[in-house]
Amino acid sequence: DLAGNLKKAEAALARFACGVTHRIGGADVASSERFDTLSPVDGKVLATVARGGPAEVGQAVTAAQAAFGDWRALPGKDRRALLHRVADGIEARAEEIALVESMDTGQAIRFMSKAAVRGADNFRFFADKAPEACDGQTLHAPGQVNMTSRRPIGPVAVITPWNTPFMLSTWKIAPALAAGCTVVQKPAEFSPLTARLLVEIAEDAGLPPGVLNVVNGFGEDCGRALTEHPGIRAVAFVGESATGSQIMRQGAATLKRVHFELGGKNPVIIFDDADIDRAVDAAVFMIYSLNGERCTSSSRLLVQDTIYDEVCARVAERAKRITVGHPLDPETVVGPLIHPEHEAKVLSYFDKAREEGAQIAAGGGKVGTQGCYVAPTLFTTATNGMAIAREEIFGPVLTAIAFRDEAEALAIANDTEYGLTAYLWTRDLERAFRMTGGLEAGMMWVNSENLRHLPTPFGGVKASGIGRDGGDWSFDFYMETVNVCFAT
Ligand code: NAD
Repeated sequence: DLAGNLKKAEAALARFACGVTHRIGGADVASSERFDTLSPVDGKVLATVARGGPAEVGQAVTAAQAAFGDWRALPGKDRRALLHRVADGIEARAEEIALVESMDTGQAIRFMSKAAVRGADNFRFFADKAPEACDGQTLHAPGQVNMTSRRPIGPVAVITPWNTPFMLSTWKIAPALAAGCTVVQKPAEFSPLTARLLVEIAEDAGLPPGVLNVVNGFGEDCGRALTEHPGIRAVAFVGESATGSQIMRQGAATLKRVHFELGGKNPVIIFDDADIDRAVDAAVFMIYSLNGERCTSSSRLLVQDTIYDEVCARVAERAKRITVGHPLDPETVVGPLIHPEHEAKVLSYFDKAREEGAQIAAGGGKVGTQGCYVAPTLFTTATNGMAIAREEIFGPVLTAIAFRDEAEALAIANDTEYGLTAYLWTRDLERAFRMTGGLEAGMMWVNSENLRHLPTPFGGVKASGIGRDGGDWSFDFYMETVNVCFAT
Protein backbone atom coordinates (compact mmCIF):
# COMPACT_ATOMS: atom_id res chain seq x y z
CA ASP A 1 0.00 0.00 0.00
CA LEU A 2 0.96 3.66 -0.20
CA ALA A 3 2.25 3.93 3.39
CA GLY A 4 4.40 0.83 2.95
CA ASN A 5 5.74 2.03 -0.39
CA LEU A 6 6.50 5.48 1.04
CA LYS A 7 8.56 3.90 3.78
CA LYS A 8 10.44 1.69 1.35
CA ALA A 9 11.01 4.63 -1.02
CA GLU A 10 12.39 6.72 1.81
CA ALA A 11 14.88 3.95 2.57
CA ALA A 12 15.81 3.58 -1.10
CA LEU A 13 16.31 7.33 -1.50
CA ALA A 14 18.33 7.69 1.71
CA ARG A 15 21.45 6.48 -0.08
CA PHE A 16 21.29 9.56 -2.34
CA ALA A 17 21.24 11.90 0.69
CA CYS A 18 24.94 12.67 0.43
CA GLY A 19 24.57 13.48 -3.25
CA VAL A 20 24.98 11.78 -6.59
CA THR A 21 28.38 11.83 -8.27
CA HIS A 22 29.42 10.82 -11.76
CA ARG A 23 30.68 7.29 -12.18
CA ILE A 24 33.79 7.26 -14.34
CA GLY A 25 36.20 4.35 -14.75
CA GLY A 26 34.61 2.55 -11.81
CA ALA A 27 35.12 5.48 -9.44
CA ASP A 28 32.96 8.27 -8.03
CA VAL A 29 33.86 11.64 -9.50
CA ALA A 30 32.51 14.90 -8.09
CA SER A 31 32.05 18.30 -9.74
CA SER A 32 32.31 21.74 -8.22
CA GLU A 33 28.87 22.57 -9.62
CA ARG A 34 25.72 20.71 -8.62
CA PHE A 35 22.01 20.69 -9.40
CA ASP A 36 18.95 19.36 -7.58
CA THR A 37 16.59 16.70 -8.79
CA LEU A 38 13.09 17.41 -7.48
CA SER A 39 10.20 15.19 -6.58
CA PRO A 40 7.23 15.92 -8.86
CA VAL A 41 5.00 14.89 -5.95
CA ASP A 42 5.75 17.94 -3.83
CA GLY A 43 8.69 19.74 -5.37
CA LYS A 44 11.06 18.71 -2.57
CA VAL A 45 14.72 18.04 -3.35
CA LEU A 46 15.30 14.31 -3.76
CA ALA A 47 19.04 14.59 -4.28
CA THR A 48 21.82 16.95 -5.19
CA VAL A 49 23.62 15.83 -8.32
CA ALA A 50 27.10 16.60 -9.66
CA ARG A 51 26.84 18.82 -12.72
CA GLY A 52 29.42 17.73 -15.28
CA GLY A 53 30.72 19.64 -18.26
CA PRO A 54 33.43 19.17 -20.87
CA ALA A 55 36.09 18.22 -18.27
CA GLU A 56 34.10 15.35 -16.78
CA VAL A 57 32.97 14.25 -20.23
CA GLY A 58 36.62 14.19 -21.32
CA GLN A 59 37.51 12.02 -18.32
CA ALA A 60 34.66 9.62 -19.04
CA VAL A 61 35.56 9.29 -22.72
CA THR A 62 39.17 8.56 -21.77
CA ALA A 63 37.95 5.83 -19.40
CA ALA A 64 35.67 4.38 -22.09
CA GLN A 65 38.52 4.39 -24.61
CA ALA A 66 40.87 2.70 -22.15
CA ALA A 67 38.35 -0.04 -21.38
CA PHE A 68 37.38 -0.66 -25.00
CA GLY A 69 40.26 -2.95 -26.04
CA ASP A 70 39.76 -5.56 -23.32
CA TRP A 71 35.98 -5.37 -23.48
CA ARG A 72 35.76 -6.00 -27.21
CA ALA A 73 38.31 -8.82 -26.89
CA LEU A 74 36.26 -10.63 -24.26
CA PRO A 75 34.71 -13.74 -25.87
CA GLY A 76 31.03 -13.28 -26.68
CA LYS A 77 30.00 -16.08 -24.36
CA ASP A 78 31.72 -14.30 -21.46
CA ARG A 79 29.95 -11.06 -22.32
CA ARG A 80 26.73 -13.04 -22.46
CA ALA A 81 27.29 -14.49 -18.97
CA LEU A 82 28.18 -11.10 -17.55
CA LEU A 83 25.17 -9.33 -19.06
CA HIS A 84 22.90 -12.05 -17.67
CA ARG A 85 24.40 -11.30 -14.26
CA VAL A 86 23.47 -7.64 -14.80
CA ALA A 87 19.90 -8.80 -15.53
CA ASP A 88 19.97 -10.88 -12.33
CA GLY A 89 21.06 -7.78 -10.42
CA ILE A 90 18.27 -5.69 -11.94
CA GLU A 91 15.72 -8.34 -11.00
CA ALA A 92 17.08 -8.56 -7.46
CA ARG A 93 16.78 -4.78 -7.07
CA ALA A 94 13.67 -4.29 -9.25
CA GLU A 95 11.54 -2.99 -6.40
CA GLU A 96 14.16 -0.45 -5.36
CA ILE A 97 14.57 0.69 -8.99
CA ALA A 98 10.81 1.06 -9.41
CA LEU A 99 10.42 3.05 -6.19
CA VAL A 100 13.25 5.44 -7.02
CA GLU A 101 12.06 5.81 -10.62
CA SER A 102 8.50 6.60 -9.47
CA MET A 103 9.69 9.26 -7.05
CA ASP A 104 12.13 10.82 -9.53
CA THR A 105 9.72 10.86 -12.51
CA GLY A 106 6.19 10.83 -11.02
CA GLN A 107 5.30 7.71 -13.03
CA ALA A 108 2.93 5.33 -11.25
CA ILE A 109 4.56 2.44 -9.43
CA ARG A 110 2.28 -0.08 -11.17
CA PHE A 111 4.01 0.76 -14.48
CA MET A 112 7.51 1.31 -13.09
CA SER A 113 7.56 -2.16 -11.51
CA LYS A 114 7.00 -3.60 -14.99
CA ALA A 115 9.52 -1.22 -16.55
CA ALA A 116 12.26 -2.40 -14.17
CA VAL A 117 11.62 -6.02 -15.13
CA ARG A 118 11.60 -5.03 -18.80
CA GLY A 119 15.07 -3.55 -18.18
CA ALA A 120 16.27 -6.99 -17.13
CA ASP A 121 14.60 -8.53 -20.20
CA ASN A 122 16.47 -6.08 -22.43
CA PHE A 123 19.77 -7.22 -20.91
CA ARG A 124 18.91 -10.91 -21.30
CA PHE A 125 17.76 -10.49 -24.89
CA PHE A 126 20.97 -8.78 -26.01
CA ALA A 127 23.17 -10.95 -23.76
CA ASP A 128 22.03 -13.99 -25.74
CA LYS A 129 22.94 -12.30 -29.00
CA ALA A 130 26.46 -11.33 -27.87
CA PRO A 131 28.23 -14.52 -29.04
CA GLU A 132 27.12 -14.01 -32.64
CA ALA A 133 27.30 -10.23 -32.81
CA CYS A 134 30.47 -10.27 -34.96
CA ASP A 135 29.26 -12.94 -37.39
CA GLY A 136 28.88 -12.09 -41.07
CA GLN A 137 28.71 -14.03 -44.30
CA THR A 138 30.86 -15.10 -47.23
CA LEU A 139 30.10 -13.76 -50.67
CA HIS A 140 31.61 -15.46 -53.68
CA ALA A 141 32.42 -14.23 -57.17
CA PRO A 142 34.74 -15.69 -59.84
CA GLY A 143 38.30 -15.29 -58.57
CA GLN A 144 37.30 -13.98 -55.14
CA VAL A 145 35.83 -14.85 -51.79
CA ASN A 146 34.55 -12.05 -49.58
CA MET A 147 34.23 -12.41 -45.86
CA THR A 148 32.04 -9.93 -44.06
CA SER A 149 32.04 -9.47 -40.33
CA ARG A 150 31.13 -6.86 -37.73
CA ARG A 151 33.21 -5.06 -35.16
CA PRO A 152 32.11 -2.88 -32.28
CA ILE A 153 32.27 0.75 -33.39
CA GLY A 154 34.05 1.98 -30.23
CA PRO A 155 33.01 4.10 -27.26
CA VAL A 156 29.46 5.37 -27.74
CA ALA A 157 27.34 8.04 -26.07
CA VAL A 158 23.89 7.19 -24.74
CA ILE A 159 21.76 10.29 -24.03
CA THR A 160 18.40 9.56 -22.46
CA PRO A 161 15.20 11.48 -21.61
CA TRP A 162 13.29 11.71 -18.35
CA ASN A 163 10.06 9.88 -19.09
CA THR A 164 10.95 6.23 -18.34
CA PRO A 165 14.70 6.59 -17.98
CA PHE A 166 15.70 3.21 -16.56
CA MET A 167 13.96 1.05 -19.15
CA LEU A 168 14.98 3.30 -22.04
CA SER A 169 18.62 3.30 -20.94
CA THR A 170 18.79 -0.49 -20.84
CA TRP A 171 17.34 -0.61 -24.37
CA LYS A 172 20.48 1.25 -25.54
CA ILE A 173 23.15 0.19 -23.10
CA ALA A 174 22.47 -3.57 -23.26
CA PRO A 175 22.98 -3.88 -27.05
CA ALA A 176 25.97 -1.51 -26.98
CA LEU A 177 27.69 -3.65 -24.34
CA ALA A 178 26.66 -6.92 -26.04
CA ALA A 179 28.23 -5.62 -29.26
CA GLY A 180 31.51 -4.93 -27.45
CA CYS A 181 31.23 -1.15 -27.23
CA THR A 182 31.96 0.87 -24.14
CA VAL A 183 29.48 3.53 -23.08
CA VAL A 184 29.28 7.02 -21.64
CA GLN A 185 25.71 7.74 -20.57
CA LYS A 186 24.25 11.14 -19.82
CA PRO A 187 20.88 10.74 -18.15
CA ALA A 188 18.24 13.49 -18.25
CA GLU A 189 18.73 16.17 -15.62
CA PHE A 190 15.09 15.85 -14.46
CA SER A 191 15.46 12.16 -13.49
CA PRO A 192 19.08 11.07 -13.04
CA LEU A 193 18.77 8.67 -10.11
CA THR A 194 18.19 5.24 -11.63
CA ALA A 195 21.14 5.63 -14.01
CA ARG A 196 23.24 5.53 -10.88
CA LEU A 197 21.56 2.29 -9.80
CA LEU A 198 22.20 0.68 -13.19
CA VAL A 199 25.93 1.41 -13.28
CA GLU A 200 26.23 0.15 -9.71
CA ILE A 201 24.36 -3.07 -10.55
CA ALA A 202 26.53 -3.56 -13.65
CA GLU A 203 29.77 -3.09 -11.70
CA ASP A 204 28.56 -5.42 -8.95
CA ALA A 205 27.86 -8.00 -11.66
CA GLY A 206 31.53 -7.76 -12.71
CA LEU A 207 31.44 -5.22 -15.54
CA PRO A 208 35.03 -3.93 -15.75
CA PRO A 209 35.63 -0.30 -14.75
CA GLY A 210 35.23 2.16 -17.62
CA VAL A 211 32.98 -0.08 -19.73
CA LEU A 212 29.91 1.85 -18.55
CA ASN A 213 30.36 5.42 -17.33
CA VAL A 214 27.73 7.93 -16.24
CA VAL A 215 28.19 11.69 -16.41
CA ASN A 216 25.38 13.82 -15.02
CA GLY A 217 24.58 17.28 -16.25
CA PHE A 218 22.55 19.45 -18.58
CA GLY A 219 22.10 19.06 -22.29
CA GLU A 220 23.57 22.37 -23.37
CA ASP A 221 27.03 21.80 -21.90
CA CYS A 222 27.45 18.20 -20.72
CA GLY A 223 25.37 16.59 -23.48
CA ARG A 224 26.90 18.91 -26.02
CA ALA A 225 30.47 18.06 -25.01
CA LEU A 226 29.68 14.37 -25.31
CA THR A 227 28.25 14.68 -28.82
CA GLU A 228 31.20 16.80 -29.94
CA HIS A 229 33.95 14.65 -28.44
CA PRO A 230 36.13 13.06 -31.13
CA GLY A 231 36.58 9.93 -28.99
CA ILE A 232 32.87 9.10 -29.17
CA ARG A 233 32.07 7.12 -32.31
CA ALA A 234 28.28 7.15 -32.22
CA VAL A 235 25.43 8.81 -30.34
CA ALA A 236 22.30 6.91 -29.33
CA PHE A 237 19.78 9.56 -28.37
CA VAL A 238 16.21 9.44 -27.11
CA GLY A 239 14.41 12.73 -26.68
CA GLU A 240 12.74 15.59 -28.52
CA SER A 241 12.98 16.02 -32.26
CA ALA A 242 14.43 19.53 -31.93
CA THR A 243 17.18 18.20 -29.65
CA GLY A 244 17.91 15.50 -32.24
CA SER A 245 18.52 18.17 -34.90
CA GLN A 246 20.76 20.04 -32.50
CA ILE A 247 22.77 16.89 -31.75
CA MET A 248 23.14 16.20 -35.45
CA ARG A 249 24.65 19.65 -35.89
CA GLN A 250 26.92 19.20 -32.88
CA GLY A 251 28.12 15.82 -34.12
CA ALA A 252 28.65 16.93 -37.71
CA ALA A 253 32.24 18.12 -37.29
CA THR A 254 33.32 14.72 -36.01
CA LEU A 255 31.03 12.78 -38.41
CA LYS A 256 29.13 11.04 -35.65
CA ARG A 257 26.88 8.13 -36.44
CA VAL A 258 23.51 8.93 -34.85
CA HIS A 259 20.53 6.91 -33.78
CA PHE A 260 17.50 8.97 -32.82
CA GLU A 261 14.28 8.00 -31.08
CA LEU A 262 12.29 11.22 -31.06
CA GLY A 263 8.82 12.60 -30.56
CA GLY A 264 5.44 11.49 -31.84
CA LYS A 265 1.85 12.59 -32.41
CA ASN A 266 0.57 9.11 -32.92
CA PRO A 267 -2.92 8.38 -34.25
CA VAL A 268 -5.26 5.67 -33.05
CA ILE A 269 -7.75 5.17 -35.88
CA ILE A 270 -11.09 3.56 -35.11
CA PHE A 271 -13.42 2.49 -37.95
CA ASP A 272 -17.08 1.75 -37.27
CA ASP A 273 -16.56 -1.96 -38.00
CA ALA A 274 -14.09 -2.29 -35.10
CA ASP A 275 -14.51 -4.03 -31.77
CA ILE A 276 -15.41 -0.78 -30.05
CA ASP A 277 -15.01 -2.08 -26.50
CA ARG A 278 -11.45 -3.19 -27.10
CA ALA A 279 -10.62 -0.12 -29.15
CA VAL A 280 -11.79 2.18 -26.36
CA ASP A 281 -9.81 0.18 -23.79
CA ALA A 282 -6.66 0.42 -25.86
CA ALA A 283 -7.11 4.11 -26.69
CA VAL A 284 -7.56 4.92 -22.99
CA PHE A 285 -4.54 2.83 -22.01
CA MET A 286 -2.26 4.24 -24.70
CA ILE A 287 -2.74 7.88 -23.71
CA TYR A 288 -3.42 7.82 -19.98
CA SER A 289 -0.90 5.19 -18.85
CA LEU A 290 2.61 6.42 -18.02
CA ASN A 291 1.09 9.91 -17.56
CA GLY A 292 0.90 10.23 -21.33
CA GLU A 293 4.63 10.92 -21.09
CA ARG A 294 5.35 8.18 -23.55
CA CYS A 295 6.74 8.50 -27.05
CA THR A 296 4.42 5.78 -28.39
CA SER A 297 1.28 7.20 -26.77
CA SER A 298 -1.70 7.58 -29.07
CA SER A 299 -2.36 11.27 -28.61
CA ARG A 300 -4.70 11.70 -31.60
CA LEU A 301 -7.95 9.75 -31.57
CA LEU A 302 -9.31 9.52 -35.11
CA VAL A 303 -12.84 8.12 -35.09
CA GLN A 304 -15.22 7.43 -37.99
CA ASP A 305 -18.02 10.01 -37.90
CA THR A 306 -20.73 7.32 -37.55
CA ILE A 307 -19.40 6.34 -34.10
CA TYR A 308 -17.56 9.53 -33.12
CA ASP A 309 -20.02 10.72 -30.47
CA GLU A 310 -20.34 7.28 -28.91
CA VAL A 311 -16.59 6.65 -28.75
CA CYS A 312 -15.85 10.13 -27.40
CA ALA A 313 -18.53 9.75 -24.73
CA ARG A 314 -17.07 6.43 -23.64
CA VAL A 315 -13.48 7.66 -23.58
CA ALA A 316 -14.52 10.78 -21.64
CA GLU A 317 -16.38 8.70 -19.11
CA ARG A 318 -13.35 6.43 -18.66
CA ALA A 319 -10.95 9.40 -18.45
CA LYS A 320 -13.01 10.93 -15.62
CA ARG A 321 -12.75 7.71 -13.62
CA ILE A 322 -8.97 7.34 -13.89
CA THR A 323 -7.23 7.40 -10.53
CA VAL A 324 -4.88 10.36 -10.29
CA GLY A 325 -2.68 10.25 -7.23
CA HIS A 326 0.59 9.65 -5.52
CA PRO A 327 2.86 7.64 -7.81
CA LEU A 328 3.63 5.13 -5.06
CA ASP A 329 -0.04 4.32 -4.49
CA PRO A 330 -0.68 0.96 -6.18
CA GLU A 331 -4.13 2.27 -7.25
CA THR A 332 -2.68 5.25 -9.10
CA VAL A 333 -2.77 5.29 -12.89
CA VAL A 334 -1.78 8.92 -13.49
CA GLY A 335 0.84 10.44 -11.22
CA PRO A 336 2.32 13.95 -11.25
CA LEU A 337 4.05 15.18 -14.39
CA ILE A 338 7.81 15.29 -14.28
CA HIS A 339 8.45 18.97 -13.45
CA PRO A 340 6.61 22.28 -12.99
CA GLU A 341 8.04 23.52 -16.31
CA HIS A 342 6.60 20.56 -18.14
CA GLU A 343 3.33 20.83 -16.26
CA ALA A 344 3.04 24.48 -17.34
CA LYS A 345 3.61 23.42 -20.95
CA VAL A 346 0.87 20.77 -20.76
CA LEU A 347 -1.57 23.16 -19.03
CA SER A 348 -0.95 25.82 -21.68
CA TYR A 349 -2.69 23.58 -24.22
CA PHE A 350 -5.97 23.80 -22.31
CA ASP A 351 -6.24 27.51 -23.10
CA LYS A 352 -5.06 26.92 -26.65
CA ALA A 353 -7.75 24.26 -27.11
CA ARG A 354 -10.47 26.61 -25.87
CA GLU A 355 -9.20 29.45 -28.08
CA GLU A 356 -9.12 27.16 -31.10
CA GLY A 357 -12.71 26.06 -30.49
CA ALA A 358 -12.25 22.49 -29.28
CA GLN A 359 -14.45 21.22 -26.47
CA ILE A 360 -13.12 19.74 -23.29
CA ALA A 361 -15.07 16.54 -22.69
CA ALA A 362 -13.00 15.44 -19.69
CA GLY A 363 -10.32 16.99 -17.49
CA GLY A 364 -8.90 20.28 -18.68
CA GLY A 365 -7.12 21.44 -15.56
CA LYS A 366 -4.89 20.74 -12.61
CA VAL A 367 -5.76 18.28 -9.87
CA GLY A 368 -5.16 19.64 -6.36
CA THR A 369 -2.81 22.49 -5.58
CA GLN A 370 0.40 20.72 -4.66
CA GLY A 371 2.51 18.70 -7.08
CA CYS A 372 2.35 18.55 -10.87
CA TYR A 373 -0.98 16.70 -11.13
CA VAL A 374 -2.96 17.17 -14.33
CA ALA A 375 -6.40 15.65 -14.97
CA PRO A 376 -6.73 13.08 -17.76
CA THR A 377 -8.13 15.21 -20.55
CA LEU A 378 -10.10 14.66 -23.75
CA PHE A 379 -10.53 17.36 -26.38
CA THR A 380 -13.38 16.78 -28.82
CA THR A 381 -14.68 18.49 -31.97
CA ALA A 382 -11.07 19.08 -32.86
CA THR A 383 -9.56 19.43 -36.30
CA ASN A 384 -6.10 18.37 -37.34
CA GLY A 385 -5.02 21.96 -37.90
CA MET A 386 -5.26 22.83 -34.20
CA ALA A 387 -2.11 23.01 -32.07
CA ILE A 388 -3.56 20.27 -29.82
CA ALA A 389 -3.52 17.98 -32.88
CA ARG A 390 -0.13 19.00 -34.23
CA GLU A 391 2.19 19.46 -31.26
CA GLU A 392 3.52 16.77 -28.97
CA ILE A 393 1.97 17.68 -25.60
CA PHE A 394 3.50 14.70 -23.75
CA GLY A 395 0.87 14.51 -21.03
CA PRO A 396 -2.42 12.68 -20.31
CA VAL A 397 -4.15 14.65 -23.04
CA LEU A 398 -6.04 13.21 -26.01
CA THR A 399 -7.39 15.04 -29.06
CA ALA A 400 -10.38 13.44 -30.84
CA ILE A 401 -10.98 14.15 -34.53
CA ALA A 402 -13.76 12.76 -36.73
CA PHE A 403 -13.19 11.31 -40.21
CA ARG A 404 -15.58 10.17 -42.96
CA ASP A 405 -13.81 7.38 -44.79
CA GLU A 406 -10.51 5.60 -45.31
CA ALA A 407 -9.06 8.30 -47.52
CA GLU A 408 -9.76 11.00 -44.98
CA ALA A 409 -8.49 8.87 -42.08
CA LEU A 410 -5.22 8.30 -43.91
CA ALA A 411 -4.86 11.95 -44.89
CA ILE A 412 -5.39 13.15 -41.31
CA ALA A 413 -3.17 10.44 -39.81
CA ASN A 414 -0.29 11.36 -42.12
CA ASP A 415 -0.76 15.12 -41.84
CA THR A 416 1.89 15.48 -39.14
CA GLU A 417 5.62 16.03 -39.05
CA TYR A 418 5.94 12.90 -36.89
CA GLY A 419 5.78 9.21 -37.76
CA LEU A 420 6.50 6.99 -34.79
CA THR A 421 3.49 4.71 -34.29
CA ALA A 422 -0.07 4.24 -35.52
CA TYR A 423 -2.84 2.09 -34.08
CA LEU A 424 -5.61 0.82 -36.34
CA TRP A 425 -8.96 -0.68 -35.34
CA THR A 426 -11.02 -2.48 -37.98
CA ARG A 427 -12.38 -5.96 -38.62
CA ASP A 428 -11.84 -5.58 -42.36
CA LEU A 429 -8.58 -7.29 -43.29
CA GLU A 430 -8.31 -5.69 -46.72
CA ARG A 431 -8.81 -2.26 -45.20
CA ALA A 432 -6.09 -3.07 -42.66
CA PHE A 433 -3.68 -3.88 -45.49
CA ARG A 434 -4.58 -0.73 -47.41
CA MET A 435 -4.29 1.47 -44.34
CA THR A 436 -1.03 0.05 -43.01
CA GLY A 437 0.37 0.28 -46.55
CA GLY A 438 -0.34 4.01 -46.56
CA LEU A 439 0.33 5.06 -42.98
CA GLU A 440 3.56 6.97 -42.43
CA ALA A 441 4.79 5.39 -39.18
CA GLY A 442 7.72 3.21 -38.21
CA MET A 443 5.53 0.92 -36.11
CA MET A 444 1.87 0.03 -36.55
CA TRP A 445 -0.47 -2.11 -34.52
CA VAL A 446 -3.71 -3.56 -35.88
CA ASN A 447 -6.42 -4.21 -33.31
CA SER A 448 -4.04 -3.84 -30.41
CA GLU A 449 -2.37 -1.44 -28.08
CA ASN A 450 1.42 -1.30 -28.10
CA LEU A 451 2.65 -4.90 -27.85
CA ARG A 452 6.39 -5.41 -27.79
CA HIS A 453 8.50 -8.25 -29.11
CA LEU A 454 12.18 -7.49 -28.68
CA PRO A 455 13.38 -8.98 -32.01
CA THR A 456 11.14 -6.57 -33.98
CA PRO A 457 12.40 -3.19 -35.23
CA PHE A 458 11.59 -0.19 -33.03
CA GLY A 459 11.84 3.34 -34.39
CA GLY A 460 10.14 6.12 -36.27
CA VAL A 461 10.01 7.83 -39.66
CA LYS A 462 9.90 11.56 -40.51
CA ALA A 463 10.62 13.71 -37.42
CA SER A 464 10.22 10.71 -35.10
CA GLY A 465 13.63 9.25 -35.59
CA ILE A 466 16.52 7.79 -37.49
CA GLY A 467 17.49 4.15 -37.22
CA ARG A 468 15.98 1.09 -35.62
CA ASP A 469 16.53 -0.71 -32.34
CA GLY A 470 15.63 -4.27 -31.54
CA GLY A 471 16.85 -7.62 -32.81
CA ASP A 472 19.87 -7.38 -35.02
CA TRP A 473 19.07 -3.77 -35.99
CA SER A 474 20.68 -2.60 -32.75
CA PHE A 475 23.96 -4.25 -33.70
CA ASP A 476 23.92 -2.54 -37.09
CA PHE A 477 24.15 0.71 -35.18
CA TYR A 478 26.71 -0.23 -32.52
CA MET A 479 28.95 -2.12 -34.96
CA GLU A 480 30.87 -1.51 -38.19
CA THR A 481 30.41 -4.02 -40.98
CA VAL A 482 33.70 -4.76 -42.75
CA ASN A 483 34.58 -6.82 -45.78
CA VAL A 484 37.78 -8.72 -46.58
CA CYS A 485 38.18 -9.87 -50.17
CA PHE A 486 40.47 -12.86 -50.89
CA ALA A 487 41.63 -13.45 -54.44
CA THR A 488 41.39 -17.14 -55.30
P1 NAD B 1 15.02 16.34 -24.45
O1 NAD B 1 15.31 16.26 -25.91
O2 NAD B 1 14.75 17.65 -23.85
O3 NAD B 1 16.23 15.72 -23.61
C1 NAD B 1 16.70 14.41 -23.79
C2 NAD B 1 18.14 14.33 -23.36
O4 NAD B 1 18.95 15.12 -24.23
C3 NAD B 1 18.41 14.84 -21.95
O5 NAD B 1 19.36 14.01 -21.33
C4 NAD B 1 19.00 16.22 -22.21
O6 NAD B 1 19.82 16.68 -21.19
C5 NAD B 1 19.78 15.97 -23.47
N1 NAD B 1 20.08 17.17 -24.27
C6 NAD B 1 19.35 18.30 -24.37
N2 NAD B 1 19.96 19.17 -25.21
C7 NAD B 1 21.10 18.58 -25.65
C8 NAD B 1 22.15 18.97 -26.52
N3 NAD B 1 22.16 20.16 -27.12
N4 NAD B 1 23.16 18.10 -26.74
C9 NAD B 1 23.17 16.89 -26.16
N5 NAD B 1 22.21 16.47 -25.31
C10 NAD B 1 21.18 17.30 -25.05
O7 NAD B 1 13.82 15.31 -24.22
P2 NAD B 1 13.00 15.07 -22.87
O8 NAD B 1 12.11 16.24 -22.69
O9 NAD B 1 13.94 14.65 -21.80
O10 NAD B 1 12.13 13.78 -23.25
C11 NAD B 1 10.88 13.82 -23.85
C12 NAD B 1 10.99 13.58 -25.35
O11 NAD B 1 11.57 12.30 -25.60
C13 NAD B 1 9.66 13.56 -26.05
O12 NAD B 1 9.74 14.28 -27.26
C14 NAD B 1 9.45 12.08 -26.35
O13 NAD B 1 8.59 11.80 -27.43
C15 NAD B 1 10.83 11.63 -26.61
N6 NAD B 1 10.93 10.17 -26.46
C16 NAD B 1 11.05 9.40 -27.59
C17 NAD B 1 11.11 8.01 -27.48
C18 NAD B 1 11.19 7.14 -28.71
O14 NAD B 1 11.47 5.97 -28.57
N7 NAD B 1 10.95 7.66 -29.91
C19 NAD B 1 11.08 7.42 -26.22
C20 NAD B 1 10.95 8.23 -25.10
C21 NAD B 1 10.89 9.61 -25.23
